[in-house]
Amino acid sequence: MGRRRKRRKIIAKRVVRIPRVFQCPHCSFTTLSIVIKKTGDRAQAIIMCGKCGLIDDEDFADIPAIYQPVDVYAKFIDMYERGEAHVRFTPSTTSAS
Ligand SMILES: [Zn+2]
Repeated sequence: MGRRRKRRKIIAKRVVRIPRVFQCPHCSFTTLSIVIKKTGDRAQAIIMCGKCGLIDDEDFADIPAIYQPVDVYAKFIDMYERGEAHVRFTPSTTSAS
């Protein structure tokens, strides 16, 4: 009765990249996305939370291009916990600066 149709995992032909959504240390929702922009052998990562509006585009403005989102995330969490991360919040949130 009214059972949800089971969604089978579709096997993609190409290997799907590791999800870029991680758990936000601020609001603890899994809405933290990490975007890495590569420019040559260096890269820039931008961390954004879709829930609380947390953003960090300062601390990872110059990282090795081999970094994966998970590497950035691990580093970010470490910095965040030490209070060293330069996090901001997008203007759409109510938190005042
Ligand atoms: Zn958040």
